[in-house]
Amino acid sequence: MSLGPLLPGATLGVMGGGQLGRMFVHAAQALGYRTAVLDPDAASPAGLVSHHHIATGYLDEAGLATLADVADAVTTEFENVPADALRTLATRRPVAPAGDAVAICQDRAREKAHFGASGVPCAPYALIETPEQLAAVDGALLPGILKTARLGYDGKGQVRVADRAALAAAWDALGRVACVLEQRLALRLELSVIVARGGDGQVVHFPVQQNLHRDGILAVTEVPAPGVSPALAAQAVQRAGAIAAEMGYVGVLCVEFFVVDDAAGGLALVANEMAPRPHNSGHYTIDACDCSQFEAQVRCMAGLPLVVPRLHSPALMLNLLGDLWFDAAGTEREPAWAPVLALPGTHLHLYGKTSARRGRKMGHLTITAADAATARATADRAAQLLGLPPL
Ligand code: ATP
Ligand code: MG
Repeated sequence: MSLGPLLPGATLGVMGGGQLGRMFVHAAQALGYRTAVLDPDAASPAGLVSHHHIATGYLDEAGLATLADVADAVTTEFENVPADALRTLATRRPVAPAGDAVAICQDRAREKAHFGASGVPCAPYALIETPEQLAAVDGALLPGILKTARLGYDGKGQVRVADRAALAAAWDALGRVACVLEQRLALRLELSVIVARGGDGQVVHFPVQQNLHRDGILAVTEVPAPGVSPALAAQAVQRAGAIAAEMGYVGVLCVEFFVVDDAAGGLALVANEMAPRPHNSGHYTIDACDCSQFEAQVRCMAGLPLVVPRLHSPALMLNLLGDLWFDAAGTEREPAWAPVLALPGTHLHLYGKTSARRGRKMGHLTITAADAATARATADRAAQLLGLPPL
């Protein structure tokens, strides 16, 4: 369904009310759009700041009908939105990305098959859905990581397994649901790239970012990526574009890559996973680029022109997890923001979540500077002030 560009004043809808939805709402409203959020949580971060908040389940017929009534186009902020909800909405309004594309991203097995169809290598893996497939696993995949095919995030639904006994125990522990076993690779580093693809097939990309994970959760993103050559970055961008084009994707797509040694003594890219939406590793674009990943999401779904985003400042992003809201004795406290905000080039983003839990993403801090060394030094100081590990 195409209605031509939806201009400011129209209402843009989003499935999901988490922090990504909140930053989408902020970007849409800055451009003069009205917004509608569908999320069952009455206190959802995006629902709190949106013109409309429809607090129903994602498959609730009346809720979806109301969203289609008020919103002129709909997007999503999380990949586990039921694809059928997007398909239902698409009978009434433009929906970007489409339910079929989101369905691929929801399932690690389909996602890996899609990487293959796009000509993009991923880690060696096996699908495990039955005891027979478990028994037949190629020993070369061990040591490996067993991941549930669906519903994993932030390292949840993943178990590192050293041998066959551990693999069998892990599959039991995960409830014998459909899983993929991936070979555990020796990572040189991790990077991700965000592309935006319009309904006309035009693709623009953000600069490639380098990511550091701690305990399976993104901790730090840095741009420009210090360990990534221009050739490797260009290859990541080309591959992300190919992955998007292969599924006729419309919207913002993030592809995560591992960087590993290749046989010839160089570096090779291996696709890890993709997200059919803006991504945590792209939050720096709000403060360091002249078009953020959320503005790109707005432009894609509204059919507005896409422009090539320009990085105007080197940047680091530090994720602020709920752990920071507890002191050494386990008592809840508010982190001391003032000394951090006294550092030049710090941009604090808090998501308005009403309660802190360890490992919960509460906000992020982006540090920009005129040069990369200054950004890194300031980020190091901010991390120290907050009690985060050194960079
Ligand atoms: P998120 O959705 O938050 O990115 P996730 O739970 O979907 O995370 P993955 O991206 O699959 O998890 O893995 C999380 C991290 O675990 C990776 O970024 C990487 O650091 C490590 N990891 C995952 N798979 C492998 C692998 N095959 N070899 C080595 N390290 C891996
Ligand atoms: Mg990941």
